[in-house]
Amino acid sequence: MTTEHFPEQEYRRMIKMCLRCSVCKWIPQVQIKSQKYASCCPAMDIYDYHAYSGGGRIILALAYEMGRVKPSDDLLNIVYRCTECGNCAIACKYMNTLEPLEIIMKFREKLVKDGYGPMPQQKAYTEAMKKVNNPYNEPHEKRVDWLPSDIKVDPDAKLLYYVGCTSSYRRKEMAIAAARIMNAAGVPFNILKDDEFCCGSPVYRTGDVESFKVQLNKNLDVMESKGIETIIFSCAGCYDTFKVDYPLYREYNFEVLHTVEFFEQLIEEGKLKFTTEVPIMVTYHDPCHLGRTAERYEEWAGDELKLMPLVSINIPPKPKNIGAKGVYDAPRNILNKIPGLKLVEMERIMEYSYCCGAGAGVKSAFPDMAIRSSKNRIEEAEDSGANILVSACPFCSTNLQDGIKESGSKLKYYDISELILMALGLDPEKLIQATAGGA
Ligand code: SF4
Ligand code: SF4
Repeated sequence: MTTEHFPEQEYRRMIKMCLRCSVCKWIPQVQIKSQKYASCCPAMDIYDYHAYSGGGRIILALAYEMGRVKPSDDLLNIVYRCTECGNCAIACKYMNTLEPLEIIMKFREKLVKDGYGPMPQQKAYTEAMKKVNNPYNEPHEKRVDWLPSDIKVDPDAKLLYYVGCTSSYRRKEMAIAAARIMNAAGVPFNILKDDEFCCGSPVYRTGDVESFKVQLNKNLDVMESKGIETIIFSCAGCYDTFKVDYPLYREYNFEVLHTVEFFEQLIEEGKLKFTTEVPIMVTYHDPCHLGRTAERYEEWAGDELKLMPLVSINIPPKPKNIGAKGVYDAPRNILNKIPGLKLVEMERIMEYSYCCGAGAGVKSAFPDMAIRSSKNRIEEAEDSGANILVSACPFCSTNLQDGIKESGSKLKYYDISELILMALGLDPEKLIQATAGGA
């Protein structure tokens, strides 16, 4: 365990190592299926200049470290127009050994520490989180308003459903669906109600690590006091934050699962039985935080053997996070078990999935960028031939639904939990009080 998310020494070493090869602008060559969907970076697709790519951001980080660029609105406008989707990092590590995502995050951390970042809209949601425990500035006491009176919650259960801010306030249909599925399976679960606080992901990803540590300690104190054994998350962002980021600052002793992993287990154990045909054609969007970024950064100690000035090998070999350990099979296995449902794939999937465009503070500070990225993904979903787009994250849900509206697409969006309800013979339209979204 370390007390920083990426060691300073590694940061300083790596920002000098970028080859300017631009590999980080594309999904790996062998994975490309068409020129139309070859790019991997939402920021590059919109703004085109190298500075917006993973490698360009590394050059900026180096220039900032050397004092060659001074803090300015222009600098912040580039640094924060990035969803931290991590696609550049997967592409880079296919060929090289750098960690563009860790560098981007550390650069933001430095800008905050130096008194410049994050963006004004992100500062506003940070203040809201500190005041009312959620970035939407909603009253804390309304956090559990989503909970219908007929759903059974067991205060003594050691299985906790951590709802998260977005499902609690903006995508209530996801919280209701998850809770109804667990009731249908007869699985006792608890929720924290007033004792649940923002996981801290929105502030962590914009560089405010000190505020993030406050949130993680508040949450872990509550969970440890209740002797929780397993926590499940329907939000990919909260899941990733607990699984990957919390342990960098404080270890814990419970199991962390996304609902798709948990529901797949319940299906295998026979506790959830699909009885109803759902005759639709769907395509599945892999959320970044459930896929490639949901891998822990592994510290490495060893020797670097220089072969040429910019080419070296690591002894022993350095562990590489290439996104392969993300949660990709569970949602597809669930979808493939739903009677009558046909799953067709987009071109960029799993660790090469294209970001929905909302993450790391982009939705609040740069809504134009979020919508343009979402529209790119919607077009790709349409090209798959599906008429339903499905995913497993409330933040993706909001932004993809916004993209569907803005592009005038005929696609319909569902969270995977809603399709599970349908397959269980429970009508989500009747069981879910649909709510307006938008964050
Ligand atoms: S970040 Fe990696 S892939 Fe991108 S230009 Fe630098 S070395 Fe090449
Ligand atoms: S993290 Fe995503 S948006 Fe940011 S530079 Fe890398 S690929 Fe582009």
